[in-house]
Amino acid sequence: MEKDTIAAISTPIGEGAIAIVRLSGEEAITISNKLFEGKDLKQVDSHTIHYGKMIDPKTDEMMEEVMVSVMRAPKTFTKEDVVEINCHGGLASVNRLLEHVLLYGARLAEPGEFTKRAFLNGRIDLSQAEAVMDLIRAKTDKAMNIALKQLDGKLSKLVHQLRQKLIETVAHVEVNIDYPEYDDVEEMSHQMLRDRTQEVYQEVEKLLSMAKQGKILREGIATAIIGRPNVGKSSLLNAFVQETKAIVTDIPGTTRDVIEEYVNVRGIPLRLVDTAGIRETEDIVERIGVERSRQALKESDLILLVLNYGEELTEEDRNLFKAVEGLEYIVIVNKTDLDAKLDVEEVKQLAANQKVITTALIEDKGMNALEEAIADTFFEGELDTGDLSYVSNVRHIQLLQQTLTALSDAVEAMDAEMPIDLVQIDVTRAWELLGEIVGDTLQDSLIDQLFSQFCLGK
Ligand code: GDP
Repeated sequence: MEKDTIAAISTPIGEGAIAIVRLSGEEAITISNKLFEGKDLKQVDSHTIHYGKMIDPKTDEMMEEVMVSVMRAPKTFTKEDVVEINCHGGLASVNRLLEHVLLYGARLAEPGEFTKRAFLNGRIDLSQAEAVMDLIRAKTDKAMNIALKQLDGKLSKLVHQLRQKLIETVAHVEVNIDYPEYDDVEEMSHQMLRDRTQEVYQEVEKLLSMAKQGKILREGIATAIIGRPNVGKSSLLNAFVQETKAIVTDIPGTTRDVIEEYVNVRGIPLRLVDTAGIRETEDIVERIGVERSRQALKESDLILLVLNYGEELTEEDRNLFKAVEGLEYIVIVNKTDLDAKLDVEEVKQLAANQKVITTALIEDKGMNALEEAIADTFFEGELDTGDLSYVSNVRHIQLLQQTLTALSDAVEAMDAEMPIDLVQIDVTRAWELLGEIVGDTLQDSLIDQLFSQFCLGK
């Protein structure tokens, strides 16, 4: 257990009805007690809350009226003594409280340090700790469900099962190495070894195939809207925002200090890329040429290419098709209320196998079909978060991919009748990689880096 006591403001920075200063560590109660007037916090029962005043011991001045929760180890989030001081939600008052808590013995927590302690003290494993972060950042109910399941340890359990299978396999290999004289044992277990490894391989593969969807739910579909001036790009954006309730998230101090705009399409978060710069994308192809536009557009998961039904197809439109070739896009033929000028057949040909949706945004027509097309594109219509095996975390996805490679190396080595100890290396490697998901085999530096992505006070 860590020696020092950490403290941080655990509620969002800003004005609110209540703000919380949280402390964790051996001195959490003693430090709070130095400032608290009302009761002796050292004497109160665990998991109780107490009304009182926070007094500056130097001046005897009252700083705040508070409710203090006292939770003693080990049944707390960090498995250490935890105190939560609920105060009025003004920035000044909560800051002053934190200052005093620090002055009287606590240290300012690093981002994610509370959760890190929960992990280091063995209360949760790494994939669960990451789920805590996902839960905070979840933009839709479905993304939240995945995080909750992960927090509940569903992914951990699955990973543990797979590791168990592998370790048993390794044990068998070891028997083979230690007792090579049993020829028929080797024959038999060779087959078993291959089957086992193959089995785990298939399960990891299944997990991975669903991972793409999980990642989308977690991070949103990066979506770009492109088209010539006046075709209806802004109208489309507005339609999304109005119909689907925009989720505007402010993520200060995380990856970048921007306000990103999310809209919720049938439970799938669309992240509207560069919405402020939407005016710029309209002549992107003109400005920077087809090839460079392609490069820029590649950053998006989905491109919505808008055309005007009331006008003939122009060279500019055709260039847009060139720019999105091979990328994931949906064509939107807008303004179908106008007289037909656009050659829809030509559009369908240009769009090859991609979906073409018709809309009259001015009359609120077509959004349903468009949303369906989007859901279809990414989830083939089915979106079942009831499936526990969703993996949404990029780190997990990478590890699973590496596991898959190690396992296929193992199978190949077996098929090529390589020496058994070579097979063992690959299988052990797969076992270690899976261990990194739950944090069993992970370097400290990586752990530090992971937790530093958390928000302060969590
Ligand atoms: P942008 O320049 O591509 O962003 O296009 P806007 O969304 O600003 O739309 C340009 C004009 O087309 C506006 O006056 C819209 O009201 C109009 N508009 C948008 N959708 C439709 C539609 O379905 N039918 C008609 N007739 N006009 C539309």
